[in-house]
Amino acid sequence: MADHGVYQKNGKPLGKASVNCILNNRAYLGFTKHYGEYFPGSFLPILSPTLFEAVQKVLKTRQKPRKSKIAHPFHFLGFARCGECGGMFTAQYSTNRFGTKYSYYRCTKKFGVCGQLYLQENALATQLKTLLQSVSLPREEILKMENKIDEWENENISARGGVVQNLKDKIRGNQEKLDKLVAIYLDEDIEREIYLERKDLLMREKASLLESERDFGQQRKNWVEPLRSFVLSLKECADLEKTENYLEWKQFFQKIGSNPEIKDKTVSIHWGELWDFVASAKGGSGLPSASFASQNSPLISNFANVSLGDSTGNRTQI
Ligand SMILES: [Zn+2]
Repeated sequence: MADHGVYQKNGKPLGKASVNCILNNRAYLGFTKHYGEYFPGSFLPILSPTLFEAVQKVLKTRQKPRKSKIAHPFHFLGFARCGECGGMFTAQYSTNRFGTKYSYYRCTKKFGVCGQLYLQENALATQLKTLLQSVSLPREEILKMENKIDEWENENISARGGVVQNLKDKIRGNQEKLDKLVAIYLDEDIEREIYLERKDLLMREKASLLESERDFGQQRKNWVEPLRSFVLSLKECADLEKTENYLEWKQFFQKIGSNPEIKDKTVSIHWGELWDFVASAKGGSGLPSASFASQNSPLISNFANVSLGDSTGNRTQI
């Protein structure tokens, strides 16, 4: 820049940061900034977007990889509450006697006295992995479930097809009656009072028929959609189990479960009945330390004839 005669006010060459600032300035593209958001400005750009993007590319390749300030992020922060006092579990660093830094979780003891001890992140991760494994099914089993759902849906569609047709016929019949009634009334063949009375009846009948038709479509969605989204989560679980991506594990459990708690160094999660079913079908009684909400549901009986993994299971007890 100095070679081109561009200096700071004090005559010194421009600093790296200032040059970076200039090269990144969206104003040259004709943008204006308002509360951190860019908008098209009212003036013409002085750089072509192509040139601007080319510069950004070069800048990116020259950029030194920034060291993350957080060497050990707390992956499970905000994940669980204390099973004893209900306080949130918070995260902290510690260094062991070999000088290795590690993260651990402990009760904030916000609600007063609490006897719970800390839990190391590794230990928590191991438990969550065990939970993931307890509901992780082989690909082919998940595929079987998907096929089964497709099959049920198709059976349902054909069985219900008749009912839907019947409803449609009734709705058409109702409309014809209404049309006829109006025609008769216009021909002055019936009294206004009778006309209004009959019309009222027909209109009400029509409203109920339309409602039945809507409910019918809705009923199908009510059972198909939860099952499909459950199978999607099963797939996700099978993938996650193979990774060590703690953050994604946390997000997964937050999605499928509720009220994660840590008590006596053990994590427990309430999750839905379908998960409960998978865990019990896969490994017997599920984890003794985890409390699983259990309810009987028609959804579960739907799956009763689908085999789930091998009965020996490959779970690791915590
Ligand atoms: Zn506590």
